[in-house]
Amino acid sequence: MIYRFGLILTVLACMMVSLSADEWKSGIDWPRPEVVEGTEPTTTPPPEGAVVLIDGKSMDAWNNGQNWILKDGFAEVKGGSVTSKQEFGSCKLHIEWASPEVAKGDGQGRGNSGLFFFDKYELQILDSYQNETYYDGQCGSIYKQRPPLKNVCRKPGEWNSYDVDFTAPVFEDGKLVKPAYITVYQNGVLIQDNYEIQGSTFWHQPPVYEPHGPKGRLQLQDHGDPVRFRNMWVVEK
Ligand code: MG
Repeated sequence: MIYRFGLILTVLACMMVSLSADEWKSGIDWPRPEVVEGTEPTTTPPPEGAVVLIDGKSMDAWNNGQNWILKDGFAEVKGGSVTSKQEFGSCKLHIEWASPEVAKGDGQGRGNSGLFFFDKYELQILDSYQNETYYDGQCGSIYKQRPPLKNVCRKPGEWNSYDVDFTAPVFEDGKLVKPAYITVYQNGVLIQDNYEIQGSTFWHQPPVYEPHGPKGRLQLQDHGDPVRFRNMWVVEK
């Protein structure tokens, strides 16, 4: 009995340690990205040969897509993150998204989602309209690596677009031989300019490359906020 009680206490203590893992921050004193207002999202339809991932009618292209809400031509986060059934390497990608119309919470707790390449490299999606957080975690950042060049976020509930050119990293014999690069336009404004990604993006530790194959899944993050998505497509490079 005493042994069992001790065991339970040990298990509980281990759980508390894992739950209280410390947050890691880069500590880099970035300048505040300039705020640009009055932009409009791009709404380019999928070109010929593109793989359509969100058309507002079906989430069949996604693992766990059945849990998300489909209405009025968009898909809304619900019931967990989704990962693409198809894997992609270097690609060009278009996506439109809107943070919730009623802005709740602040900092990282407001309109948080994210677009991950290879399920590892996060291009942050966040309601950064009059909502301060650490600059390398705000909307358009490569999470905890590089702030966006500009803060282009439109008002809560308004649509934004990302047009992304992503170059996949290359590994040989488990070693990085070429890093990943990313260029991002938000609402037509350049916010990441061929940035060299430093590795997988984490909340609790510095970036590090974890070797993987030439293709991987895309992920759209469920961070607890009902962020909306529409018109998402990919063209492989
Ligand atoms: Mg996120």
